[in-house]
Amino acid sequence: MHKTIISLTAAVMLAGCTGGSNNSNNSTNEAANQETKTYNFLDAKEKTFDGFSVHWLKDNAEDKNFPFDLFGNIPESIRQEVNLPDDGIPSSMSAYLIKSNGKNILFDSGLGEKSGGQLIPQLQSYGVAPENIDYVYITHFHGDHIGGMLTPDGEKVFTNAEVYVSQLEKDSDLGKGEQAAKMIEKYGDKIHTFNFGDTLPEDVKAIKAIGHTPGHTVYQKGNVLIIGDLMHAFAIQVNHPEINANFDGDKDQAASTRKSILQYAKDNGLTMCGMHLPVPEK
Ligand SMILES: [Zn+2]
Repeated sequence: MHKTIISLTAAVMLAGCTGGSNNSNNSTNEAANQETKTYNFLDAKEKTFDGFSVHWLKDNAEDKNFPFDLFGNIPESIRQEVNLPDDGIPSSMSAYLIKSNGKNILFDSGLGEKSGGQLIPQLQSYGVAPENIDYVYITHFHGDHIGGMLTPDGEKVFTNAEVYVSQLEKDSDLGKGEQAAKMIEKYGDKIHTFNFGDTLPEDVKAIKAIGHTPGHTVYQKGNVLIIGDLMHAFAIQVNHPEINANFDGDKDQAASTRKSILQYAKDNGLTMCGMHLPVPEK
């Protein structure tokens, strides 16, 4: 019967319960004070913030659950903290669109049409055609993030876009891999690199979030944080950021980055948008 799907809200509420799980009495007040700030995750497909809007682009057609064994050996005690479906951990393949000052900013491009990616129809549902994308900010060079940059024929999808990626990612082995190299060649002088800490067009800040890949980047615009592949098993990692996915390249670094970015988001009241978070119903 374990078919209850954990919702973003439920997991966030759980997140507020970390820390003093052993029977505390005199530390209760202290724990309550520390936990008054909670994690915020995007809880709707579209949301307006101060001066811009964020739109969730669900790239996978079917619901996606990541198998448990993608996360090493998750202790049974941790698995039992959350009510998960039998077939894995609710997830998605996603990208995001931010509309700001008449500009369309795309964060990652999904799997691509050839692999069944739904990015283009998703963009169209928000009234945006590929040629209307002004900027593409890439979190990292995995295929489910850059597959949508080229058409099945190998041509540019975002014909008018300036494309940004971290210098570290471009210089890494991933940057020299076939898929990334092809994309870099096609986009030519439209490809721009940055260093962590740089502020990019439309006031988007590039934040170091390495570990998943050598140059993995988290982007901040106002109170929104696009967290890329910081989390793959939201329901579990929100309370146990020490747990990694098999595809985290440098696991110790990935875990340390996950902890620090989550803390940063919590401390600053930022709303997080992740490429593998379960998509909300509304
Ligand atoms: Zn990914």
